[in-house]
Amino acid sequence: MKREKGFTLIELLVVIAIIAILAAILFPVLSSARRAAWVSGCTSNMKQFMNAVNLYRGDYNGFLPQANNIWYIDYGNPATLKFNYFDELFPYMKTTNVAICPAKPILAIKNSLVNLWYYPAESGSSERKPTKWYGAVYTPSMWPWPKGSGGERRLAHMIWSQGKNLVNPDTVDYWAKYNCRPSEAVMLFCMSGTWSITWDDARIRQMFPDKIAHGSHERGTPALFADGHVKFVEYDRVGNL
Ligand SMILES: [Zn+2]
Repeated sequence: MKREKGFTLIELLVVIAIIAILAAILFPVLSSARRAAWVSGCTSNMKQFMNAVNLYRGDYNGFLPQANNIWYIDYGNPATLKFNYFDELFPYMKTTNVAICPAKPILAIKNSLVNLWYYPAESGSSERKPTKWYGAVYTPSMWPWPKGSGGERRLAHMIWSQGKNLVNPDTVDYWAKYNCRPSEAVMLFCMSGTWSITWDDARIRQMFPDKIAHGSHERGTPALFADGHVKFVEYDRVGNL
């Protein structure tokens, strides 16, 4: 009997089953490898921010850039579009790319970053325009971590300076005031990883009922500490502003 060339149905099914099994094994590995790559890219961004902060401080007698950050841009006041944290560091970074976490591209988050839009100065205009920082995910803070187990562990922003040349952590009794050390204070964290944690409160849910997304870093965020080290911190508690 002459056998025809080709695969039998059984052979095909076996091959398909093997591929399915391999895919099932590999997918979680690839997925976690991708997440690990996001964390390392995010960490690298933060280190570049720290370099920029140090360069800035070198030019401004040790003072920190003011942390009127992108989240506090007042649409009605174009002046607040200047002198925010990222703008002040921009000359030392020469790029906006480092403000965008590789884990960032989650549309739900992107669409929610309303503060990265502004209304042009010609008042009365209702046309929203993106700022050059559109897509930025980092937010500055001086947030002690970890500190006890109470409300102080929340992700409240402890903004270090809402004015130019107001705070120099080397010369003021800054750390005693907040009862922490530079190695315990988070200077920058990633909203890409913290969106659902930091902002998942009633007020935000009301503002963006369909746009709360889980953070791309899932359990926490890489965090830049004031002494320059970056590490991944997990949350054990929902915080709010
Ligand atoms: Zn990130």
